[in-house]
Amino acid sequence: MFLYELTTTVQKLPGVGPAVARDLHSLGIACVRDLLLHLPRTYEDRRTHRPLVRSGSGEPPDLGEGGERTVNTTAEVIAHDFVGPPGRRTLKVYVRDESGHGALTCFGRNFLADKLPPGMRIRLYGKFRYRYGELQAGTFEFEPEERPPRAFGAFLAIYPLSGNLTQGKLRSLVDRALTEGGRHVADEIPDSVRERYRLACTAHALAGVHRPESLEMAEQARRALAFSELFLLQMSIVRTALRRRAGTGRAKRLPRERRDRLASSFPFSLTRDQQRVLEEIHEDLESARAMSRLIQGDIGSGKTLVAFLASIPVWETGGQTVFMAPTELLARQHAENAARLLEPVGMQVGLLTGSMGRAERETLRAAVEHGEVDFLVGTHALFTPDLGFRRLDLAIIDEQQRFGVDQRARLVEKSTTANLLVLTATPIPRTLALTLFGHMDVSTIHTMPPGRKPVRTHLAREGNEEKVYRRVRQELEAGRQAYFVYPAIEHGTDSDLKSAEEMYERIRGRLFSEARVGLIHSRRPEDEKRATMAAFVAGELDILVATSVVEVGVDVPNATCMVVEHAERFGLSALHQLRGRVGRSDLQSYCFLIYSAELTEAGKARMRVMHQEHDGFRIAEEDLKIRGPGDLAGNAQSGYLRFAAADLSRDIELMQRARSEATRILEADPELTREEHHQTARALDAYEAAIDAGREGAV
Ligand code: ADP
Ligand code: MG
Repeated sequence: MFLYELTTTVQKLPGVGPAVARDLHSLGIACVRDLLLHLPRTYEDRRTHRPLVRSGSGEPPDLGEGGERTVNTTAEVIAHDFVGPPGRRTLKVYVRDESGHGALTCFGRNFLADKLPPGMRIRLYGKFRYRYGELQAGTFEFEPEERPPRAFGAFLAIYPLSGNLTQGKLRSLVDRALTEGGRHVADEIPDSVRERYRLACTAHALAGVHRPESLEMAEQARRALAFSELFLLQMSIVRTALRRRAGTGRAKRLPRERRDRLASSFPFSLTRDQQRVLEEIHEDLESARAMSRLIQGDIGSGKTLVAFLASIPVWETGGQTVFMAPTELLARQHAENAARLLEPVGMQVGLLTGSMGRAERETLRAAVEHGEVDFLVGTHALFTPDLGFRRLDLAIIDEQQRFGVDQRARLVEKSTTANLLVLTATPIPRTLALTLFGHMDVSTIHTMPPGRKPVRTHLAREGNEEKVYRRVRQELEAGRQAYFVYPAIEHGTDSDLKSAEEMYERIRGRLFSEARVGLIHSRRPEDEKRATMAAFVAGELDILVATSVVEVGVDVPNATCMVVEHAERFGLSALHQLRGRVGRSDLQSYCFLIYSAELTEAGKARMRVMHQEHDGFRIAEEDLKIRGPGDLAGNAQSGYLRFAAADLSRDIELMQRARSEATRILEADPELTREEHHQTARALDAYEAAIDAGREGAV
């Protein structure tokens, strides 16, 4: 068995009922493999005795007020006390060890009174702070001294948790996963490669990362796992790249006339960059090797239009085009635009989404298979294996940062014979681009269509909303439309954050009582979202209240106002995307960023950048500066990179090695037929199958 084949569901493990399974699922853990790849977030050394008071004098002179110390000791419970206002009283348990005294504050855990009776002796681990002349711990772990130690006297893994899961529970589940398979998995990487980099085999690395004896051992194990992960990814990417380079098609000539005739019928002409990129794509399509091209260009620079036009010669020569969008909303809008543009030429446009009814889907599927659909737009529902094309020639992925790297790699793989075009408005840092997208040709659209007036960005402090609203009212009176964006869907109990739901009521009630107002966010039913969006596009709504679902791609040229409240809650790239929703015609547009009174330094910097910069590439660079490269890993969670062990802020070098090893191996043995590569070949199949099975990679 390979790691990627350990797909037994967690429910099959003893001690996993529906509640535990639910908590595990919210951590992204569905099967044994996921459990093994749920890596500790840190480790605690509970082998060394660390008394409450280091000097042993009975006083903590080594800790100033607020100072913190890790304690790992054996203590006796002395007394209980309850502190705080009536009704919200919190248990405090006083303890003592040979060195001095301390107190355990049991927030929300008053039931511990029974478990920690005075006189009891416990093993105790906690982070203590010196406060009000007393050593206190709010988070701690303990076990009765009379029982044999479970979570003490060892070097312990500490896991990310969710719901009611405890460290103890996760540790025992991981132990189980290790014995069920983790300790015996077959290795993915040829021995020679392992040896060159002195990396432990996967089975050892799994044991080492979960049950290490030291931090060094844990880090070595993590690196070994990271290498495997990166190696398989790179093998998958490089193998595809080589196959494509070998050329699967024949060089041919494609007509340009219809495409150019359509383009010249527009009320505007294509920018020089658009023409150049269209020509680059055309030449790729004519060549014998399949295209792998990334088009980067700022929001509104006309990438999508170029991609639509590129499909015309494909259709003229009997091929089909698929266009994949990151959300249903966008897929719908792209389908409408594509239909408006391409159907007059004679092409048939279809739309496939996850929320489609069975019958409708079946009809569409058949039409695609019979070649009756020439241009199919969809979401990741397009990944379904039962979808067959008559002749898929061109695959376009819009806004690729929304899709996981592994999934993206797989899409490339799937369409080895088709030409691949990826559109992105998110500039990718150069090192990453070289390692992840090194096999792609890159086209850049630098200039915006002429006549575009840069969006005027105004900053307003919370409390000055009325000024902004007044300005928006003027725009509405002139027949324009506006977006209002909020960071939350509904009002939370413990925050005074304005929410989309609440502001929707206020906006249509009192603030803009004459306006026609719609609401859109991810928890509304698909058909309502669709109807609302359609109404806004058609100009039947004046205001669209939303969360960041409107972030990517939504195109309503008549909308001239973007109001973002609690703007400091959004990252720079999100703000840039949001601002890109307006300024999509020759009308002057406005972006109002309303920020709260207490801004962090980073928050201030973000507001400043938004005020001064309009160029998406420069904003991305500033973003990187503000967050620092160390935060690239944060990207990994939310954005285009998703790994379990690898951390691209630290492992770029590892990635480069993985890439060069993969290239070396595949150049010498493209189909991995040599004996020494058999195991790797099978591991790669397992890895790709796992990604196909959709480790819920996309949105
Ligand atoms: P992107 O995909 O880069 O965000 P789009 O292709 O969606 O950009 O174009 C944004 C808007 O600009 C669309 O309404 C499109 O019709 C229009 N547009 C595209 N190219 C031009 C051009 N050369 N001149 C004027 N408008 C254009
Ligand atoms: Mg676009």
